[in-house]
Amino acid sequence: MVGFSGTRKWVYPMSVTGRFQRLRRWTFLALYIVLFVPPWITIGGHPLLQLDLESRELFAFGAIFTASDTILLLLMLLFLAFALFFFTSLFGRLWCGYACPQTVFLDAWIHPIEQWIEGDWVRRRRRDEGPWTLDRAWRKAAKWGLFAVVSVVAAMAFMSFFAGARELWTGRAGPVEYSLVAIFAALWFLDFAWFREQFCSFLCPYARFQSALTDDQTLNIMYNIERGEPRGGVSARTEGRCIACNKCVNVCPAGIDIRNGFQLECIACARCVDACEDVMGRLGHETLVSYSTVATTQGRPPHRLRPRTVAYASLLTGIAAVFVGMVMTRTPFEATVSRAPGSLFIVDPDGFVRNTYILRITNNDPASAPLPFHVSVEGLKGATITAQDIRLGSTESAALPLVIRLPVTAGMPRTLPLQVRVASPSYRVRLDATFKSGGALAAADPD
Ligand code: SF4
Ligand code: SF4
Repeated sequence: MVGFSGTRKWVYPMSVTGRFQRLRRWTFLALYIVLFVPPWITIGGHPLLQLDLESRELFAFGAIFTASDTILLLLMLLFLAFALFFFTSLFGRLWCGYACPQTVFLDAWIHPIEQWIEGDWVRRRRRDEGPWTLDRAWRKAAKWGLFAVVSVVAAMAFMSFFAGARELWTGRAGPVEYSLVAIFAALWFLDFAWFREQFCSFLCPYARFQSALTDDQTLNIMYNIERGEPRGGVSARTEGRCIACNKCVNVCPAGIDIRNGFQLECIACARCVDACEDVMGRLGHETLVSYSTVATTQGRPPHRLRPRTVAYASLLTGIAAVFVGMVMTRTPFEATVSRAPGSLFIVDPDGFVRNTYILRITNNDPASAPLPFHVSVEGLKGATITAQDIRLGSTESAALPLVIRLPVTAGMPRTLPLQVRVASPSYRVRLDATFKSGGALAAADPD
């Protein structure tokens, strides 16, 4: 934390064990799986989850989304945002304490490394308050060296979702990708070595707006003020009041005292709950710090169904329905036809009117084998068609010329409708277009 003087106030969290910390180890494991595994798994030759910024394609669970699927991506982002709102309104900041990469890396890697090299929280604080010595210097250097390794691993894992795990981890990615890894690793290192809990307090947008998402029925870490106060004194141990041991404060990675009430800095990590469960459990009392709601502490019944949770749930259902509907009706390829730039029609010397078009085909099918596409034109009798069939691999695009010629005839209409038909083995589309002739300039002789 930064103190009023503007200097860094270091937090030295004491280590703690307990049932919530054991539960958190499992959720940490789930995050490692989500972070490290998907870029290595392929479906049909494509990554399970990867956003290729260069080709502007998102590979997700066997599907490929291109720039033309922007609406689907927006729906996905909206769904995730409202899922977070819904979850927060019910369970508060469980995400922060149990699954956020910031918390997970700090709690599972950085704090244990620090404890291993520099000793427990009391020794660390004493050494930092003392003068620089050789002992302090080598420990800091060793600790920062390991932090750097963790930072690079975290940055590589993150970038694998954009550059491909195999390319990145085997040195086959480009200089841009490795430059980004270096930048992210430097930021992670700064965070691990110095910024830490300040990220949650000052930078994280979720921490800023979460107070607008919660109410008195939201689950939070709370201190039982009714039973706990007044704290200390000879009879506190027998009466189950707070014995002022300060363990809940000493274990807090945010450097706050939960007994002062709900604070924005609290990341709901439940370390204070485990600490107090241990202390009060030894005295034969229930913990004074627990998961609870303001309503419960005021003796009111819990309500999961509230206007805000119902609104979020309805929006989530609506977004999911639209998303599924759009995915189900999504075509395996896209085709568009447009007139070639600068050419409305040309009257050829051999007595034909010529229209030239550009046909664009994009293969969205995630199957790895190239697909054949057959192009034909319908609706123009006597037309001479010059079209090109093509094979396109997954996610490939092509722009093909399409030339249609019609013999000039007397009374030839100025505009004729036609359909361009593009067919793959499993799907076909018909594109409306028009053939322009200008009446072949009134059949080549206006008089
Ligand atoms: S751990 Fe429990 S008993 Fe100890 S100071 Fe905190 S609330 Fe009081
Ligand atoms: S007050 Fe408790 S739950 Fe909140 S950050 Fe501190 S230890 Fe974690």
